[in-house]
Amino acid sequence: MVAKAPLRALPSVDRVLGLAAAAALVERFGRSEAVDAIRAALAEARAAGGALPGAADVAAMARDALERRHRDALRPLFNLTGTVLHTNLGRALLAEAAIEAAVAAMRDAAALEFDLETGRRGERDGHLREILCELTGAEDATLVNNNAAAVLIALNTLGQGREAIVSRGELIEIGGAFRMPDIMARAGVRLVEVGTTNRTHPGDYRTALGPETGLVLKVHTSNYRIEGFTAEVAGAALAAIAREGGVPLLNDLGSGTLLNLSRWGLKREPTVREAVEEGADLVTFSGDKLLGGPQAGFIVGRKDLIAAINRNPMKRALRVDKVRIAALAATLKLYRDPDRLAKRLPTLALLSRKVVEIEALARRVEPHLAAALPAGFGVALCECRSQIGSGALPLDTLPSAGLRITAPRGRDLDALSAAFRALPRPVIGYVRDGALVLDLRCLTDEAGFIANLSALRAPHGLA
Ligand SMILES: *Cc1c(COP(=O)(O)O)cnc(C)c1O
Repeated sequence: MVAKAPLRALPSVDRVLGLAAAAALVERFGRSEAVDAIRAALAEARAAGGALPGAADVAAMARDALERRHRDALRPLFNLTGTVLHTNLGRALLAEAAIEAAVAAMRDAAALEFDLETGRRGERDGHLREILCELTGAEDATLVNNNAAAVLIALNTLGQGREAIVSRGELIEIGGAFRMPDIMARAGVRLVEVGTTNRTHPGDYRTALGPETGLVLKVHTSNYRIEGFTAEVAGAALAAIAREGGVPLLNDLGSGTLLNLSRWGLKREPTVREAVEEGADLVTFSGDKLLGGPQAGFIVGRKDLIAAINRNPMKRALRVDKVRIAALAATLKLYRDPDRLAKRLPTLALLSRKVVEIEALARRVEPHLAAALPAGFGVALCECRSQIGSGALPLDTLPSAGLRITAPRGRDLDALSAAFRALPRPVIGYVRDGALVLDLRCLTDEAGFIANLSALRAPHGLA
């Protein structure tokens, strides 16, 4: 009897619910969830034994559990990895115009497949066709869920049951199990590899062309580069070879860009317009890489081939919803005014940010970070090299600046990184040479970043 006495001293659910703190939980989360959380907190206290919590402690435990449960894993975070287009962190940040267009499309009905002039059924892709043709010089255009889908449906439409000729130097894998040979197999296309890893010549393609050939494929190698004793067949020459063979050339540009980026101090990437002018019959590229929009895959090129893609039953399975179409249209419109593009398109703004500006930011943030860290941790300014990410110009890093945080002896860097990830707005950096590095290229909300640091010493932080 005596041994059981402490259990009887735990507060009842009703007693906890009588507190103002519990009433606030009912208001915020609803009665059902609040009561369940209080019951769970009581059960936890019972199982833990030891000192018994009072009613207010139980309400606080329930509140912590409810807040954890309601915390959104997709909540905004600070991407301080130095990789501007980070696939795992959601790639491009949208322009304000795109966000507004998406929100408007979410809230109300829109003429997605409805022609406002005739009152008849309209075309989903019609909203983007004209501007895509204008910006790329292509005859026609269509879009699907992402560039992987664009490649899949283009291969399937042009080459199902037939052969696709591709250089051995271009059989890429680009993260997330996108491997060109596997995609070709799923598209029902027989892969014919030509050339060698480092060198492929015009004759290699010519020899492979035959009655079974459905298309010639060119793939941007994106995330790697072959250097040294190399040879590849340029787009224009390859287009001529495909034409001689009477088959279309599909050029998968990957990131693809609509403008020459050297204007903003970046290395040149082939533009979509150049690929079209070189004579590719179809060109595929992403919406959320260098283009700076939401996830999408564009296919531009010959009218008859685009029509064939639109007739492919796969198209229905890969189509894009009204929210993204609205955001894409708003993003593409920004390209009509290149002079103001770097101001309006976050991807370009971040990629062209001047290193002196980032250094000044690092200098301002440094004392706040030093003050937020417990004794023993060190902070120093450092030079960084940012990357574009998403396979664009993988070897061309951008000079940047950041902060380098070191842990005292006996505290490991994993715990330090974890504490930054556990902040109300998680901070993601990278570990290099015994320090957690925060590259500040992508930090735009300076005040928000500093305010967020106060939680570093919270229970799940570094206290
Ligand atoms: C990124 C990339 C893809 C896939 O594009 P997603 O938009 O990620 O689906 C396909 N091909 C190449 C060459 C790429 O670089």
